[in-house]
Amino acid sequence: MAESVELPSRLAILPFRNKVLLPGAIIRIRCTSPSSVKLVEQELWQREEKGLIGVLPVRDAAETASVGPMLSPGERSSKIPVSTSDGKNQQELIQWHTRGVAARALHLSRGVEKPSGRVTYIVVLEGLCRFSVQELSVRGTYYTARVSRLDMTKAEMDQAEQDPDLIALSRQFKATAMELISVLEQKQKTVGRTKVLLETVPVYRLADIFVASFEISFEEQLSMLDSVDLKIRLLKATELVDRHLQSIRVAEKITQKVEGQLSKSQKEFLLRQQMRAIKEELGDNDDDEDDVAALERKMQGAGMPPNIWKHAQRELRRLRKMQPQQPGYSSSRVYLELLADLPWQKGSEERELDLRAAKERLDNDHYGLVKIKQRIIEYLAVRKLKPDARGPVLCFVGPPGVGKTSLASSIAAALDRKFVRISLGGVKDEADIRGHRRTYIGSMPGRLVEGLKRVAVNNPVMLLDEIDKTGSDVRGDPASALLEVLDPEQNKTFNDHYLNVPFDLSKVIFVATANRIQPIPPPLLDRMEVIELPGYTPEEKLKIAMDHLIPRVLDQHGLSSENLQIPEATVKLVIQRYTREAGVRSLERNLAALARAAAVRVAEEHAVSVSKDMHSIDAPLLDNRLADGAEVEMEVLPMGVNNHEMSNDFRSTSPFIVDEAMLEKVLGPPRFDDKETAERVTTPGVSVGLVWTTFGGEVQFVEATSTMGKGDLHLTGQLGDVIKESAQIALTWVRSRSSDFQIEAAGQINLMEGRDIHIHFPAGAVPKDGPSAGVTLVTSLVSLFSQRNVRADTAMTGEMTLRGLVLPVGGIKDKILAAHRYGIKRVILPQRNVKDLVEVPAPVLASLEILLAKTMEDVLEQAFEGGCPWRLHAKL
Ligand code: ADP
Repeated sequence: MAESVELPSRLAILPFRNKVLLPGAIIRIRCTSPSSVKLVEQELWQREEKGLIGVLPVRDAAETASVGPMLSPGERSSKIPVSTSDGKNQQELIQWHTRGVAARALHLSRGVEKPSGRVTYIVVLEGLCRFSVQELSVRGTYYTARVSRLDMTKAEMDQAEQDPDLIALSRQFKATAMELISVLEQKQKTVGRTKVLLETVPVYRLADIFVASFEISFEEQLSMLDSVDLKIRLLKATELVDRHLQSIRVAEKITQKVEGQLSKSQKEFLLRQQMRAIKEELGDNDDDEDDVAALERKMQGAGMPPNIWKHAQRELRRLRKMQPQQPGYSSSRVYLELLADLPWQKGSEERELDLRAAKERLDNDHYGLVKIKQRIIEYLAVRKLKPDARGPVLCFVGPPGVGKTSLASSIAAALDRKFVRISLGGVKDEADIRGHRRTYIGSMPGRLVEGLKRVAVNNPVMLLDEIDKTGSDVRGDPASALLEVLDPEQNKTFNDHYLNVPFDLSKVIFVATANRIQPIPPPLLDRMEVIELPGYTPEEKLKIAMDHLIPRVLDQHGLSSENLQIPEATVKLVIQRYTREAGVRSLERNLAALARAAAVRVAEEHAVSVSKDMHSIDAPLLDNRLADGAEVEMEVLPMGVNNHEMSNDFRSTSPFIVDEAMLEKVLGPPRFDDKETAERVTTPGVSVGLVWTTFGGEVQFVEATSTMGKGDLHLTGQLGDVIKESAQIALTWVRSRSSDFQIEAAGQINLMEGRDIHIHFPAGAVPKDGPSAGVTLVTSLVSLFSQRNVRADTAMTGEMTLRGLVLPVGGIKDKILAAHRYGIKRVILPQRNVKDLVEVPAPVLASLEILLAKTMEDVLEQAFEGGCPWRLHAKL
């Protein structure tokens, strides 16, 4: 029995940090520090019979001790680093309790030796009896102490047990202990053995064992250790056991109460919390919690304004209470991520704008467009003088591929801002601009907020692309939302429905693009300054191709002018035969196709030349390397980065020149030629008009024919109402003039009765509308009725009144450019459009004969070879 142990006068001392071993209790300690390992090795491991050591509570000197006598080791010993059994090295002073418990090792095991030579021991110790320290000294790396026994021996104890006070106290203690046992028994089945303990173990040991079995504070453990007097010890133990009992009862009551109130999800939450705690304990905590903490950190760094930060925190608290599997969790999280990602404060640094550099940049990026670049420079100059000036929003209008987007991105570059493009084409739903409310499933922020998240600054240049393509329907009117975006008074507090908190858009520089002005709602147009970009002439296209497109295309394909050349003559052929557009998109595509084909050839040639060289140069090199045992590494070149270096490798081969033969091979047979109009205008009833579509100016053929019928008019070819009216007017006018022209006398067709007229506008897929086809329609009808061909080299445009006057129309420059593209030589225009001719590039104008018309007769005079077919008959 423990109490019969003979205590030696000197014991090796194992410091026990902030814990107390009580007699009768059993502890398991992992010894890792050098001093405790040494102690175990010398005092326990190498001994034949199990040795005794002293376990002495210690605490950091920094913690102000209030309970129990503590001693500091002498000057000498304090200098050696003290390591406690848990391996923490203590350089600073520690306080030693003056009382400890002698302990015997019940079990010893030695851990596997680490490669560093370190070993650890696991020691199971049983507390035996209290002792007090007389003197503490150092032996090697660990402490020893001169000790004297405090607990009574068994004989003394037997005698003391006769004391009636003690008998009463121990009875009380046992009763309390019994109560605790029966409470615990209801909870777990293993308590049976504890009951046996209660009957067999002497009461003074029981007090220690019971107290050691549940969690009490370090101070209370110390005071239990210090209770040397048996009566005091029993009193203290009774009090502690009783308190433990009460706390179990209270906890039980709370649990019962809470359990009744817990809903299923709360229960799940509790269980999950417990599971999380267990996982954490086991060290395989999944990092959900960390994720939320990381999110919070990100939110803190987002620089939200105070009211939004409050709102975000409320949402975060909600998220914290949810579990990842719960329905609203991910949507709440995605929302918070958005809040954290938005650039509330972050903007590109605004530098002093250098107008000359900006101009240079615009000139370098774009050929021609002199007036437009000048207007952009003016716009930038105003911004420089008054950075917060609320100037109009620039809106580039023109057919596709004329450089609207790239001009906008040059503005961003000139201002040193980031650039973001928001595509509005086909946006019909207001929610596309403003977002869906979060109550909708799958709700999303609007495109603007999405774009701001993407660029991550609050002052980018934002391109509202194809602003004319927004429409409105039952889902609201995107244009009105855009109006709010562009209004400087309102966009400070732009409200995205999804975001549900205002976002300041006032620092964003908006630029818009459109193909046409007409569809843009007037209030929106009112906020914008329209800058029109007409198409390019073939000469301009050639310049753009040589100076801008070819270098870019070569670069994109990893080629340089040293291995591929596209001569000017070839580019001209591409422009003439393979493209017929206002912009340069399809030209760029065709050039890219050539570059791709050439890249294959160049790469093939390179491969051949390399394999030829291989034996003479590379092979021995490779052999040497392998002989050295060196590893042959493969280097992966990132796409697009090393294009230049790659192309340098190809330098040895001579440049590859794209000629006409290669054009046909790669791009196929020519798609367009100048003969098209001549071929189509071979029968009476066909005339050539100039119209304006979203793709810029276009040549539009009009075909008319007549059949037996009741005098009806049929129209086909995707026509709008205006053009149908024009056709009606044209027919009426021609009929009304029939007697003047003596058409009947001319004898071919009776215009008044017995004939249906059918007018067709080919290229049926392209919607057509507008009044400018008026003169073309009349010409086609007159041609049909007179059975005379219209001149194939002549195209026309103009609105016509019922009385035969020719009114001016829009888009003259685009239309003339289109005529030029088609190889047309003569263009008939309304007289009042003469002012628009100044916009047409001089070389184009020089290549055309412009004929001005005031009345329909003027048009007809020019449209037919030899003048108006009926002039001779007319009474005019
Ligand atoms: P848009 O926005 O008008 O449809 P883009 O800006 O996308 O057209 O232009 C199409 C391509 O043509 C771009 O690669 C652009 O750089 C090029 N481009 C257009 N106009 C010019 C020009 N004047 N100078 C140089 N490149 C041009």
